[in-house]
Amino acid sequence: MTPDLRELYQETILDHSKRPRNFHEIADANATAVGHNPLCGDRVTVYVRLTDGTIADVAFVGQGCAISKASASLMTDAVKGKSKTQAHELFEKFHRMVTGRPGDPVDTQSLGKLAVLSGVCEFPVRVKCASLAWHTLEAAIQAKKEIVSLE
Ligand code: ZN
Repeated sequence: MTPDLRELYQETILDHSKRPRNFHEIADANATAVGHNPLCGDRVTVYVRLTDGTIADVAFVGQGCAISKASASLMTDAVKGKSKTQAHELFEKFHRMVTGRPGDPVDTQSLGKLAVLSGVCEFPVRVKCASLAWHTLEAAIQAKKEIVSLE
């Protein structure tokens, strides 16, 4: 990664952690789940309004470190308007990126802005912070369980 790109990525993460997008509850949400990362203390509640299998609206509330907040913010932006299947595929790509090896090629075409979190793979302890909101989204839209805890 070039120093310029790294700086741009860090600025974007900082921006999303300070001014998270879609940071509110959704009164008429029909899917919701709570996520907890005890390692870091991150907590997130994800609200989804599903319409015919499409994520018509998604938002979150919670508190945690800058990475968890930025990742939740970027996640909501990325999956809004997508089908459950598309959101799941995006999560898989995202998860591969943050658990990959530093220097692995990043699929920026399909990951878009989510690529700003690619540096997380250099910090294994931060992987859970970055993926908490995604695991929680999955739990919400698959109605598997309501509380996710990343041990
Ligand atoms: Zn964290």
